[in-house]
Order: sequence, then C-alpha cells, then structure tokens
Amino acid sequence: MNLLELVEKAGVTGCGGAGFPTHIKWNAKADWFIVNAVECEPLLQTDQYLMRNRADDIVYACRQAAEMIGAQNAVIAVKRAYGKEIAALEKAVETAGAAVRIHRMDSFYPAGDEQVIVYEVTGKTVPCGGIPLDVGVVVSNVATLAAAFDAMKEEPFIMKYITVAGAVNSPAVIRAPLGTSVSECVEAAGGAAADDCFVVSGGPMMGKKIACDAVSGRVTKTTSGILVLPKGGFMEEYKGDMDLEALKKRARSACIQCSYCTMLCPRHLLGHPLEPHRIMRAAAFSEDLDQLLESDGPVRNASLCSLCGVCTAYACPMGLEPSKLNAFLKEEMARRGIRRSGKETTVPLPDREWRKVPTGRISRRVGTADYGGTKEDALIEIRPEEVAIALRQGPGVLPQPVVAAGDRVSPGTLIASIPAGALGSNLHASIEGTVVEVSDVIRIRG
Ligand code: SF4
Ligand code: SF4
Repeated sequence: MNLLELVEKAGVTGCGGAGFPTHIKWNAKADWFIVNAVECEPLLQTDQYLMRNRADDIVYACRQAAEMIGAQNAVIAVKRAYGKEIAALEKAVETAGAAVRIHRMDSFYPAGDEQVIVYEVTGKTVPCGGIPLDVGVVVSNVATLAAAFDAMKEEPFIMKYITVAGAVNSPAVIRAPLGTSVSECVEAAGGAAADDCFVVSGGPMMGKKIACDAVSGRVTKTTSGILVLPKGGFMEEYKGDMDLEALKKRARSACIQCSYCTMLCPRHLLGHPLEPHRIMRAAAFSEDLDQLLESDGPVRNASLCSLCGVCTAYACPMGLEPSKLNAFLKEEMARRGIRRSGKETTVPLPDREWRKVPTGRISRRVGTADYGGTKEDALIEIRPEEVAIALRQGPGVLPQPVVAAGDRVSPGTLIASIPAGALGSNLHASIEGTVVEVSDVIRIRG
C-alpha cells in the first residue's frame, strides 16, 4: 500500500483546521511541502510537545510526504522562540540525513495561518480565494504528520494529543481516544480552577465555545486544545454569539471608521482586498441582508477573512466585532451559494513587517497571559470507559457505519467507512468495548 492509501485507510485528517482528509490534500503535485509547526495561538502547546517527543517520526513522515508529491523543498516552519523543539528537529534531520529545512519564524499572530506561512516560507502569495496548491505548495500541520507516521505502521487515527489549559489546576498535554468527553479531559488537568467557567475547543483566538455535555463536547480529530475560561470577562463576550441586527446597531452607533481593523488585518497586509472597516460601514447603513449581499464588492470580500480575530480582539479601539460580522456574512454567502468573483494575485503591503501583532501582546490583551503552561514532557494518558465518536469529523461525505449495537470492537476496528478515494475519512473504534449506539455518533462502552 502506498502512503496515500495508508493515510486514507487510517482515516487521517488535518489536525490544524477544518479536518480536511489528508489523502485528498496529498493527492497532488507541488514544489513545496511545508509542515506547519508554528502553533501561534496563545496557550496551546500540543505541537511543541510533539516536536520535542516525536521529532524523528515527524521528519520521517515529512520526507515521505514531500517525496510523494514531488516537492523539491521540504520545510518545517517553526517559531524561532521554540529552542528545544528546533534542537530536537535538527537532531532528527541530521540523524536521518534528510533534505528537510527548518524555517524559523517570528512570534506573531497568526503566523500559522496557511496563507501567511506560505508567504513567509516561499515569498509567494496565495491568490485571493485560492489555496496554497495554486502556487505549488502543500501545507500540513505537525500533528497530521505524526498521525501519518502512525498510519505508515498501519495504526488508525484514533488518539488525539490535546493541550488542556486556562483556568485548570494542572495545565497539561493529554492523549485521549476520539470520542472522550471534554469534562474527562478537564478532570485529567486537575479540574476547573474557578466556579463559573465555560469551555473553548481550540485556541483562545479561533477556538469555538462548546457545551460539555453534547456531541460537541467530545474529542474529535480536530481537537487540539481544550481551554477552561472564567465567565464574565472579555473572552466570554468575544466567544459569544451576536445576530446581524445587533452587529449592525453596534456598527452604526460606535464604528468611528478609524480603519485600524483593516490596517492590522493579516489578510489585508498580504494584499487581499479585505477591508473590515468598509464591511462595517456597509452593514451599518444597509436596509437588510439582501441589499448587503447584492453587489460584488467590499462586503463579498468577507469571504477572504480567515476569522483570526485580530480586528476584534486587538485592533478595534471601540470594542466592536468585525470578525463576527464576517463570520456571519461568510456563512450566509455559503448558504446562498454566493461566491465573490476573481482569484487575483496579490502583493503584500510594504508596511506588513511592522504591523505584525506579537503573540505576547495579543495574549495579554485577551487575558490569557497569566495562565500557567503545561509541564514540559509529562503526558497524561486518558482511558475513558465510554466514548461517543461523531460521524461528522470534517468536510465531505459522512462515513457509513459498518457496526451495529451489540458488536464487540477493539481499538482500531473500522466502525464507519467512506467509498475509496472519497472526500471524507474512515472512523475506527478508539477503545475496547461494545457498541451501544449508532446514530450521528457511535457510542462504545468498555
Ligand atoms: S478576522 Fe479580522 S483581522 Fe482576521 S482576517 Fe478577518 S477581517 Fe482580517
Ligand atoms: S477598528 Fe473598530 S471603530 Fe475602527 S473602523 Fe474598524 S470596526 Fe470601526
């Protein structure tokens, strides 16, 4: 079996974003293969753990993937501040005699954005609305490489490395089976350190607020962080929902059109015609959503937004939320099948270098700077008695269950499969036990 078949069989998906199936992403020819090891969200330390402890595996998988896609350049992009991680990677590269280059990046946010990383490493800009492959680049997260290495040993993708941090008693990197409840993960990190908290899946900037008791409160293939945060602060408001009318009202009454949101927008700084201040102005004075979306102009450029949150959490002096407006517009455009026209090539702005937002400053601004880090090389293994594995783990087709209630399964047993080559990912049992439910989740009790 070749590498593509192995990652497809193992159900490997991207670990750093939306969970795009790796066998589809890697079924390409490109000049560059970049491993995204930047981990730019405050508090997250999962990728750093992997680099320190699985450097050989990551370098090996990087070489194999780069060779398969025909890439002349295999690069691991990492923050220069990660000294121990760089040392581990360099040693692994040297030991393997691998043609893999380590690219050091500054500590700014969002250095790990795919389009930012492509420019920083290659000097090429991804066209507006395009993907890295448009300029001959494939980017994969460092945790995806670790999962691909396991796939090469025919081990399915059933375990997740996760940072559990924020207001917990003992922040930790844990290793949990898919489908583990978020509350068990929080308990493994010593439990919540404050009474009234909420939970975010992912990093503080781009992670999603989740309910602990629902399917969304379970470990999935894309879970990289679980953050416990106290209610009542900036983060609760930042993660809260707001409807269009409320966003419009706030824009009309408080947006002073200073354009700081645009000046600091990482996509705008790459030359994209994304100008959140103009979208705010259009929204403030539009009659309704139909009018707002009717013309192909600044508002449709919301589709270029990465939802990094710099405009909302850092730039706006009035406490407004351009990223929430963009999120709303992106979703609405997708629902209506509206696409902005054009796939223009862009030129980064000359002042991009000194408008980058330092990670430390954004962490202080959003209130996460005071939380403790994880104990460096202590990994907590979680062994839950029950898991509920969601069928939907990413984009594409839903895998079809191949087990029924009452079946006995072991770690790695195929429980739901996709047709060969389809956009989707196979699912495997993550613990030993009996299948007790097959619905939109497959529940297994040990
Ligand atoms: S969230 Fe704001 S800063 Fe980030 S890409 Fe979108 S508009 Fe730009
Ligand atoms: S930074 Fe805030 S006040 Fe200034 S233009 Fe943007 S949304 Fe309006």
